[in-house]
Amino acid sequence: MTDEGGDGSYEPVIGLEIHVQLRTKEKLFCPDHTGFGDAPNTNVCPVCLGLPGALPILNRDAVELAVRASLAFDCTVHQHSVWARKNYFYPDLPKGYQISQFEEPLATGGTFRVEADDVSGLDESVDIRIRRIHMEEDAGKSIHDRFESATAVDLNRTGTPLIEMVTEPDFRSPGQVRAWLTAVKQVLEYLEVSDCNMEEGSLRVDANVSLRPVGSEPLGTKTELKNMNSFSGVERALTVEIARQQDVIATGGQVAHQTLLWDERRGDVRPMRSKEESHDYRYFPDPDLPPLKVSEDLIEAVRARLPELPSARRARFREEYGLPSYDAGVLTARRPLADYYEDTARTSGEPKEASNWIMGPVLAAMNARNLEADDFPVRPAHLAELIDLVEKGTINRNVAKDVLGRMLEAATGEGAESPAVKTPADIVREEGLATVSDAGQLEAWIDDALSAHPEEVARFREGEARLKGFFMGEVMKRSRGKADPGEVARLLTERLGKA
Ligand SMILES: [Zn+2]
Repeated sequence: MTDEGGDGSYEPVIGLEIHVQLRTKEKLFCPDHTGFGDAPNTNVCPVCLGLPGALPILNRDAVELAVRASLAFDCTVHQHSVWARKNYFYPDLPKGYQISQFEEPLATGGTFRVEADDVSGLDESVDIRIRRIHMEEDAGKSIHDRFESATAVDLNRTGTPLIEMVTEPDFRSPGQVRAWLTAVKQVLEYLEVSDCNMEEGSLRVDANVSLRPVGSEPLGTKTELKNMNSFSGVERALTVEIARQQDVIATGGQVAHQTLLWDERRGDVRPMRSKEESHDYRYFPDPDLPPLKVSEDLIEAVRARLPELPSARRARFREEYGLPSYDAGVLTARRPLADYYEDTARTSGEPKEASNWIMGPVLAAMNARNLEADDFPVRPAHLAELIDLVEKGTINRNVAKDVLGRMLEAATGEGAESPAVKTPADIVREEGLATVSDAGQLEAWIDDALSAHPEEVARFREGEARLKGFFMGEVMKRSRGKADPGEVARLLTERLGKA
């Protein structure tokens, strides 16, 4: 596909539907627990089982989270919206309908802009309009692979509160979609409206895509893609489907309107059985539920409590701490990490050093242990102290990395009894790790190193200058890394002269 207009080339037009599980303790219309991984069919009651006569009672916490998300994505929150029944039959939907919102949703007309610097994978910023955000309850789960000849149903998830965000078809490439979703997920996590765990199904993305001649307005026939369980899966599925539609058009065919399932293993899309896509939901307002009222006061109170969002925080990190865009992007990707950085930067008074430490060894250690910043045993106060010890010259940088490793070992290693971490100063004192700049001691190590390598000394004196590095290494080895490197370099030059 080229970007020239009017010559028969096509551009993709992509829109998204994003289901986000709200982080409430209880379900949307009953007090059952919403946890993931409980024994099947233990978190159920007459309301979510759809037993006759059981009446739904709205969970106001869920409404507040939905309002929070709507405001963060710049939507207009409506004070009056309507619960509707979406009628269909499926074994994991015992009521025979799902409570959703249809004609009058909670919120409409938002936008969410992502700057090229904000996340990787964007060449230029994208502005995506959000058509609507509505609330609904989740269905249960059909388990097809557990028993040989039967499908099992787990209704624990039935009635879990969700929001569905629907975008306008504003995306023009699969890469844009992936980058934008990454930024959306960051916002949802900052807002603490959802844990956004895609493996557990708390964030699900469906995409629709069509092709049209470049430069033309009307939309082509779209297909809907489902069953992607990661953002990279969404990107790959769209890439595959766009290529498929191009082939259809190139060979004179017509794209059929259908729903396609992404097969991650085969890297391919296949049509859903047509039975499953003949939808006629016969929506109508739920007679058991009054319209959803959200007062102006509530909207304003939620707005006032919105946290600083990732893009604002990135901008502030650049300005307040003088960080490059790249550092600001990495450090704000998750709210606990941004808090961790900010604590360290403020306590140490060394924002750039704090960034170097966290983006380097600290993040590597977090990733290796699969820990979030708020569960990481080395706290910002410890890290700030470590940075301070290096700045004051008490220890050198390599020893400091070693001290970080020891703090971690003490807290997470085999036989670690308590999560209490020794302070860097304790470790340096107990293990005698402080930098040695005492000339007598340094001379002794240098004597030892030089007398062990008379040949190299001779070669150095003949002019092989690069051997200076070798001697440095030998001396550092003898000091177990503690020798003051500047002092060693000076004494070596004194002793050997210049090569
Ligand atoms: Zn229930």
